[in-house]
Amino acid sequence: MKNYFQKLISANKLAHAYLLVGSSLELALWITQSVYCKEQNACGQCANCRRIEHGNHPDVHIVVPDGTKIKVDQIRELQREAALKAVEGQKQVFIIDKASKMNENAANALLKSLEEPLQDTLYLLVSETKNNILPTIISRVQTLKIKEENRLVSEAEKTNLQLKYLNIYEDCNLSIEQVEQYKDSIDEWVDVISSTLSQNTSNALLSVQTSWDKNFNDKESKQLATVLMQSYVRSAVLIKRGKPSIWEIDVPYSWEQLVQLEKGVNNIQRAIHSNGHFLLAMEDFFIQKI
Ligand SMILES: [Zn+2]
Repeated sequence: MKNYFQKLISANKLAHAYLLVGSSLELALWITQSVYCKEQNACGQCANCRRIEHGNHPDVHIVVPDGTKIKVDQIRELQREAALKAVEGQKQVFIIDKASKMNENAANALLKSLEEPLQDTLYLLVSETKNNILPTIISRVQTLKIKEENRLVSEAEKTNLQLKYLNIYEDCNLSIEQVEQYKDSIDEWVDVISSTLSQNTSNALLSVQTSWDKNFNDKESKQLATVLMQSYVRSAVLIKRGKPSIWEIDVPYSWEQLVQLEKGVNNIQRAIHSNGHFLLAMEDFFIQKI
């Protein structure tokens, strides 16, 4: 991806707006450094690279969510800046981090800027997913999907998250944002999952109908619940083999039961992906269980 941008920049062929899906602010800052670098290839050493890294380049504007959302006033402020000339006579770069957090008004305001881009402006929208980004915005930008392996966890993110949650992030293939968002619930969820999976069928069905419905009440949390279940089953397999695992759980299952559990969890995940009925899939699973 970096090579791709380097070629575009040296050929002076950057588009006016990109949506970097699966990316972090890091990549957007690197692209910005490449645009302004006085040496070459975002050297990180020259005055421009350093000012961008420290957030004090006058022509680089970064919008981040104010609380949980990016609000329309933030986009209007950005548009006021865009209407002015670049302070140092080059491009102005506008980075919108966590672009999927724009509320509807903010997204519609941004759409106007993207429809009639001013000369010498570059918009970099950064987002973990394409979900929640208006199709009209997607149609006005070049969307680039950043490969998973390029999505490194930064040192700062690591110190913000306990090791345990980072392990969950790796094991479950969750995004770092999802782990951040749900980390307070994850322990509680694992309790629900582990007690449900270790109960007999009728008790398990009862807790599916009560606590599962309460804990996992939207599509995203249901998907997370199933990746946690998969991770839980994987841990159970590891523990049974005497290997270290993420979850500290009792494993009252035979090998045969573990195989059944794994199949059942995969079925539930399929049901969610195909917008099937989560509770029905869960009930189905526990009726057939073991
Ligand atoms: Zn530089």
